[in-house]
Amino acid sequence: MDCIFCKIVAGELPAKLVREDASTIAFRDVKPQAPTHVLVVPRVHVGSLDELKDPTLAGALLLAAAEVARAEKLAGGWRLISNTGADGGQVVQHLHLHVFGGAKLGRMLPERKG
Ligand code: 5GP
Ligand code: ZN
Repeated sequence: MDCIFCKIVAGELPAKLVREDASTIAFRDVKPQAPTHVLVVPRVHVGSLDELKDPTLAGALLLAAAEVARAEKLAGGWRLISNTGADGGQVVQHLHLHVFGGAKLGRMLPERKG
């Protein structure tokens, strides 16, 4: 399958790894939108949260994100986002959690249509 995050998991594409365990890896976003911007992804290909069925994997992803935030020393707070589907703004079709922090984050509102 032609999936960039599967290729990062397989070591076929470079990435700045932040954390890894048996079922997840975390790496820095190539185009950071905050001082800390890390992506947490499952090692297995899951298209999005819509396709996530395994509760153990769901828990592992959530705990990995929280560990990344602690390791990045985001004591002032941080934000977890998973863009899902076209309306959710998902671009890469391999489930990923965005960990944002390191600055006071603005509110995010839906784009206005018309
Ligand atoms: P989405 O909109 O799907 O939630 O976000 C995908 C994210 O993946 C974007 O923030 C984008 O910058 C990041 N991204 C896309 N391609 C790569 C890549 O090859 N390496 C890394 N590290 N991040 C990527
Ligand atoms: Zn994939």
